[in-house]
Amino acid sequence: MDLARVLINFFRVESCGKCTPCRIGTKRAHDLLEGISRGKGTLEDLDSLQALSQELLELSNCGLGQTAGTPIKDMLAYFRAEVEAHIRLGICPVGVCPMHD
Ligand code: SF4
Repeated sequence: MDLARVLINFFRVESCGKCTPCRIGTKRAHDLLEGISRGKGTLEDLDSLQALSQELLELSNCGLGQTAGTPIKDMLAYFRAEVEAHIRLGICPVGVCPMHD
């Protein structure tokens, strides 16, 4: 999950801001992942992240935005249990996330 958070932050910073799905979507996704990493996430956030990853892919104008959703999509596909542990149990299974402010 931490890698997805770092990667979406990269896309957020590098977004030129020309199109809304990328400009807003990367920021929103980063905010959600930050919240989860600090123990403030909800299961609804995972639905939002799934939707954001699809919107980034389908609605962004260039490869940067289209690629930005991939780390989120893969995180949810392959590491969902790890992410859910942050939400349901309030722990980071790999001991990386701060889990508090
Ligand atoms: S998808 Fe490409 S054009 Fe659109 S805001 Fe992102 S970087 Fe700019």
